[in-house]
Amino acid sequence: MVSRVIPVDPFDLVIFGGTGDLAQRKILPGLFRRFVAGQMPAESRVIGAARTELDSAGYREMVVEAIREFGGDFTYTDKQLKDFLGRIEYTPIDALGDAGWADLQELMKGKGRTEAYYFSVSPALFGELAERLQQWGMADRDARIVVEKPFGRDLESAHALNATLATYFNEDQIYRIDHYLGKETVQNLMAVRFGNMLFEPLWNAQFIDHIQITVAETVGVGGRGEYYDKAGAMRDMVQNHLMQLLCLIAMEPPARFAPDAVRDEKLKVIRALDPVLPHHIVRGQYLAETGNEEKMPSYREAVGAPRSRTESFVALKTHISNWRWAGTPFYLRTGKRLSARSSEITVVFKETPHSIFGEDAGRHRNVLSIRLQPNEGITLGVTIKEPGPGGMRLIDVPLDMSFAEALGQDAEQVDAYERLIMDVMRGNQTLFMRGDEVEAAWAWTDPIIQGWEARNDVPKPYDSGSAGPDYANELMRRDGREWREVTP
Ligand code: NAD
Repeated sequence: MVSRVIPVDPFDLVIFGGTGDLAQRKILPGLFRRFVAGQMPAESRVIGAARTELDSAGYREMVVEAIREFGGDFTYTDKQLKDFLGRIEYTPIDALGDAGWADLQELMKGKGRTEAYYFSVSPALFGELAERLQQWGMADRDARIVVEKPFGRDLESAHALNATLATYFNEDQIYRIDHYLGKETVQNLMAVRFGNMLFEPLWNAQFIDHIQITVAETVGVGGRGEYYDKAGAMRDMVQNHLMQLLCLIAMEPPARFAPDAVRDEKLKVIRALDPVLPHHIVRGQYLAETGNEEKMPSYREAVGAPRSRTESFVALKTHISNWRWAGTPFYLRTGKRLSARSSEITVVFKETPHSIFGEDAGRHRNVLSIRLQPNEGITLGVTIKEPGPGGMRLIDVPLDMSFAEALGQDAEQVDAYERLIMDVMRGNQTLFMRGDEVEAAWAWTDPIIQGWEARNDVPKPYDSGSAGPDYANELMRRDGREWREVTP
C-alpha cells in the first residue's frame, strides 16, 4: 500500500546548528527523503546556520555525506540529489554575537514562504537565538521556531525558558519537539483507541489491571557523558518521552484531533499524577561489560566521574488520580545498556471474573502491546482453545498487526523527525509539547529528583546486558506482577 503524500507549502527552513550531530543524522537526511517523496516543494530552501566556517558548497558536501551515512535504505536518483542540493545554502553565524546575522537577514528577505527556524543547538542558546531573531527582524507573526530537547532541567529553568521564548514568539509559533510523538505507532495508538469501538469501553480501572511502559536501550552514554551525567535517566527520558507516552495511553478522548484539544487532555493526565513514593522508585547505574573482548566501560568510567550518583536506569510506579484510572498502577521503566533495544507500552487486562473451564485451563489475561521500536506494531494477546483432542485447555495467541507487513515497506520509511518537520510546515502543533505541559511534567519530576538529592541516594549497580537492577523486579513482584521481558 502506498501512502499518500500531500505536499506542504514552499518553505524556508533555517537550521541553527546545521553542522551538528542531530542535523546530520536526522534533520538533513529526513528533509531529503521528504524531497524525494514529493512532499517538500522544489521552491523550498534549507539554510544551514552554525558557528562552523563553511561556504554553501562546503555545506552541500557535508549534506551529501550525511545522506550517504544516515539516509537509510532508500532509492533516489542523481538528479534528485542534485536538485535537493540546489535548495541548500549555508551561512556561518554566531548565536552569541552579531556575526552572520545580517547575511541571514538578507537571505530571508521578503520571500513570502513559510519561515521556520530549527534550534538544533545547545539549550543554553535557545533564548539567545529567539532574541536575535527578533532583533534582526525575523520573528514575524508567521515565523515558527522548533525547539529541541532538553527543555529546561527543572520547573524553574523550564518556566524561565518559556518566559524568554514568549517575549519574542506566541505559543502557536513554538514547536517543542519530542520525537517520540512523531513515531508512527504513537499516532496509531490514538487511532486504535479513538477510531475503534472495541477498546474504549474497556479502557479503565475496571478492566485494566495495570499498564507498563518500557524504553530500553542497549547503548551506553557514548559521547554524551558530560551532558548525561548532569541529567540522568529521569530528566533525559522519563520527564519527556515516557511522560508523553503515558499521556497518550491514559488521556480522555479529546473532542477533536486538534492541537489544543489533544494537549488539554494530556495536561490533565500529568496534573492528575500522584507523587511517587520513595519505595516505588528504583534507580540504577550500569556496570562494565564482562566476558567480552572489547569490554564496554561502566557508567562511571564512561562519564569520567568515579563517584557519580547519576542514574542510567529508572523504574517507578505511579497512579493517576481520576475516575478512569483510580486503582490502576502505571509502571515506567527506562535504562541504558539493557539486554535489548525495545520501546513498548503494555496494557494488561484483568482476568475474567470466573473461569468456566476450571482450574486446569489456567488463568489468562488479554495483553495489548504497542511496540514503538524496533518492529513497530500492535499485538493483542487473546485466549483460545489449545488445538487437538486434549480437552478444553486454553492458550494465549497473538492477534498481530505488524505495520511493515500490513502496509508495505512504504509505511516504515518516514522517520519521526521528518514527519514532525512537515507538521511544522503545515502549522500543526498536535504532536508538539505545549509550554504548560512541559512545566507540569517538571512539577511532577522535580520532587523525585530533589528527594534523591536530599537523601544522597546512590543508584543500584546493574550488569550491562541485563534488565536493570533486581530491585526493579522486586517493585513488580511486591504487587504480584512482573515486567514484560525486554526482547529485541
Ligand atoms: P552538536 O554539538 O553536534 O552540534 C551543535 C551545533 O551548534 C553545531 O552545528 C555548532 O556549530 C552549533 N553552535 C555551537 N555554538 C554556536 C553558536 N554560538 N552560534 C551558532 N551555532 C553554534 O549538537 P547536537 O547533538 O546536534 O544537538 C543539538 C540539539 O539537539 C541539542 O539541544 C541536543 O540536546 C538536541 N538533541 C540532539 C540529539 C542527537 O541525537 N544528537 C537528540 C535529541 C536532542
